[in-house]
Amino acid sequence: MTYTERSGCGTLAPSDVGSAVQLAGWVDALRDHGDVLFIHLRDRSGIIQVVFSPKFMSPEDCTLADSLRNEFCICVTGRVIRREHNTENPNIGTGVIEVVADTLVVLNRSRALPFSISEKAMVSGAAVGGVETVGEDLRLKYRYLDLRRPTIQGNIIKRHKINKCVRDYLDQQGFIEVETPMLTKSTPEGARDYLVPSRVHPKKFYALPQSPQLFKQLLMVSGLERYYQLARCFRDEDLRPNRQPEFTQLDMEASFIDEEFIYHTTEELIVRMFAVGGIALSAPFPRMTWQEAIDTTGSDSPDIRFGLRLVELTDVLTNTSYGILQQVIKRGGIIKGINIKGQSDRLSKNVLQNEYAKKIVPSFGAKGMTWMRMTGGRLESNIVQFFSDEEQQAIITRLGAHDGDVLVIIADASHARVNKVLGMLRLHMAERLDLIPREVHCPVWVTDFPLFEVHGKNVTSTHHPFTAPDRTDFDPNDKGALAALKSRSYDIVINGEEIGGGSIRINNIDVQHKIFQALGLAEDEIKDKFGFFLRSLRYGAPPHGGLAIGMDRVVSMILGTSSIRDVIAFPKNRSAFCPLTEAPSAVSDKQLAEAGLLEAVGVGWVDGKKVVKFTP
Ligand code: ASP
Repeated sequence: MTYTERSGCGTLAPSDVGSAVQLAGWVDALRDHGDVLFIHLRDRSGIIQVVFSPKFMSPEDCTLADSLRNEFCICVTGRVIRREHNTENPNIGTGVIEVVADTLVVLNRSRALPFSISEKAMVSGAAVGGVETVGEDLRLKYRYLDLRRPTIQGNIIKRHKINKCVRDYLDQQGFIEVETPMLTKSTPEGARDYLVPSRVHPKKFYALPQSPQLFKQLLMVSGLERYYQLARCFRDEDLRPNRQPEFTQLDMEASFIDEEFIYHTTEELIVRMFAVGGIALSAPFPRMTWQEAIDTTGSDSPDIRFGLRLVELTDVLTNTSYGILQQVIKRGGIIKGINIKGQSDRLSKNVLQNEYAKKIVPSFGAKGMTWMRMTGGRLESNIVQFFSDEEQQAIITRLGAHDGDVLVIIADASHARVNKVLGMLRLHMAERLDLIPREVHCPVWVTDFPLFEVHGKNVTSTHHPFTAPDRTDFDPNDKGALAALKSRSYDIVINGEEIGGGSIRINNIDVQHKIFQALGLAEDEIKDKFGFFLRSLRYGAPPHGGLAIGMDRVVSMILGTSSIRDVIAFPKNRSAFCPLTEAPSAVSDKQLAEAGLLEAVGVGWVDGKKVVKFTP
């Protein structure tokens, strides 16, 4: 059988009426009308109704048609006709036509299915069985069947289109796609490495890359000037619902550039990627410093689709006689509030006091919450009497309060705690009161992150150690100075989700060395882990910078899927397990021994069989 004449099921149109066609695909659904059998035939392009009738087919083919079941793989030839009036099916794109078959070949049969694949009813208005109630592990075990479902297959095809648009744009901009090693040495991105034992170098291990960071920088030293890769990255982190142990980054790096180049290139790229999904974004994207993001939203991944900004009140309450706040101010703390505009009717005293002040806010880590409501031009609550008239007026003015508004206030000696708790409260209130416009996408750059996170003696990089600091004259042993350093970094955040980030890098060996010292690495450790990289900086390393975007996340956001697993062909489940292949799985002692993880200690005989004994 040849398929040279084959048409796509979903490509047939009323203009094909009268044509002879050959179709091949899977039986999506069947409807038996005694003599006449109707099926939905599905291939990658879509679905068409095929009619098997003894009027047009041999008795043998009619008998064969009777044996058809869901997901049989078949080939038919026939003629396209217009459907009779009132039998059109608006559920499918080809619903006004059908194919009357004259021959049928069953290419392969299918067992009864573990779950229903069909997503389109054969008659207008009828219900179809969805997979909503099917456990995800069952779907993943039979992923090849799950991927036959038009929705999920459509996601994978759209992902391809997004990848293609990325490649086309970056190629136009002079970026070169380069593959970097999978079996490599550890690159620090803050997670644990997946290790691969080497058989030829016993007791030695490769690490799977957490990102191609060092290689892309080496490519800049190599003079490639502009690099990109749709790179697979591996991070052994704790489980989270939307996290995969391996994931794909659009990884980029360029030489002789500054932050503006990165902003411009990335914005254009993101606008084009979203356009593939029919979402119009407009560039340039707004920018916020890390400090501004924390101060106004309490988060370094701010969701700016809605207001509810955090506003500082400490200065207008410095002389307050309200004891709790007095204490906080004395201890160098801060007082901040949010105006929840016009929500007075939806936030009762009971909800504010008994739910938020007593339960929700303490569960976020604060001791309590003060709330007030604006009515008749005045503030009202169980604590307003502790504020003078001037203080009340100052609060009203600072928070821009009007009748019907609810004000929530948090005070604490720890500035970080106030911001964190108010940030969580902001999101909680927005969700509860349905203040988040769901169809909107709001990108924002967050810049100037602290270079380091300093906790007592412990210093870690906020991003990674190759990020350029805002100044280079720091003392690596002065923790206070380290905590004050900012980085030349930028994250791109959409709707409160960090989807990518990067930085201008260090290309000076002394600065890079000082950063390693600041991180508390001893000389021999620096040499052992990063000697190869530091060496490269001695040979005219150009100024460079780059960024990486989490593709699984972005594609999931563009396609509006609830899980990133719906845009990955063969994902792991929530426990980092693959129900299809059952990886990870045990391996034999022999394989462990070959990998140098077990020693063979001798050969023995058990029940007449030769057995090798091993020990770790
Ligand atoms: N390698 C970084 C990451 O994986 C991105 C970058 O700095 O370009 O987050």
